Amino acid sequence: MSKVIGVDIGGTKILSAIVDENGNTIKTVRVPSEGKEGRDRILYHLYQTIEELISRDIIGIGIGTAGQVDPDTGVIVTATPNLKDWAGTPLKDIIEDRFNLPTYVDNDGNVAALGEWWIGGGRGARCLLCLTIGTGIGSGIVYEGKVFRGAKGVGAELGHMSIKYDGIRCNCGGIGCIEAYASGPALMKKLQEKGRSFGNPDEIQQAAESGDRIVLEAVKEIGVLLGYAMVSFINIFNPDIILLSGGVSNLGDFLIGPVRDIVDTYALPGGRDVKIGRAVLGENAGVVGAAALVYLKGAK
Ligand SMILES: [Zn+2]
Repeated sequence: MSKVIGVDIGGTKILSAIVDENGNTIKTVRVPSEGKEGRDRILYHLYQTIEELISRDIIGIGIGTAGQVDPDTGVIVTATPNLKDWAGTPLKDIIEDRFNLPTYVDNDGNVAALGEWWIGGGRGARCLLCLTIGTGIGSGIVYEGKVFRGAKGVGAELGHMSIKYDGIRCNCGGIGCIEAYASGPALMKKLQEKGRSFGNPDEIQQAAESGDRIVLEAVKEIGVLLGYAMVSFINIFNPDIILLSGGVSNLGDFLIGPVRDIVDTYALPGGRDVKIGRAVLGENAGVVGAAALVYLKGAK
């Protein structure tokens, strides 16, 4: 049976795995990415992890990375400061030259959505939207089995939907993006404003589960704002499934409940029957989706 190496490159770690054609993850390797140290260190770790997994059975390499990617050339277009000097890297060419295997490179949000569509919570969806709510809000859209990327491959950035033209400034430079209101740091900040501080999302989840009113109120407020963004997504794309992943999504129904209420009230009626739930692949979505890129020849 043919196998593929799927790689997920983030600011702090590189997760890689051998994935078979049914989407089973056979062997996983995790190394630091040292993204803040720059391109050479990232590539050093990337080469190492691929060398550890490569064998004669491997027919290709799929890579999802943070930042915007040109899916045709496999060049990194823009990157976050967490991946220093990464922009401009011709990653597809570099990996193909070194390992002599067909290589596909795409944005990590697109790749995660493809993974969920292939073997996860989005199976059977005609139009799948995935939102990863963590430090920022990553996203991906799969429509009729193909990743929706826009004209130059840099679209589907749902986290930068503005919900408030005179709102707060987002990391992207825009104003009022949903990422600025509903990401993990935004939730932490909201809780601080209410006089509560937490070290990590798990603590917030525990507080919500124990019925902490201030926490439930803050999560609801964020869910409402996320709901308004979802209304726009639903009116534009008419998805049949929307999946949430990332640290904030672990709040489950505390978050999804208020989202659902806003959607059921304000989305155009024809689109309200959308399923909204949690992604199922968790941390593996990136490596599985990256492997799917190879099996589906770029899902273009
Ligand atoms: Zn933004």
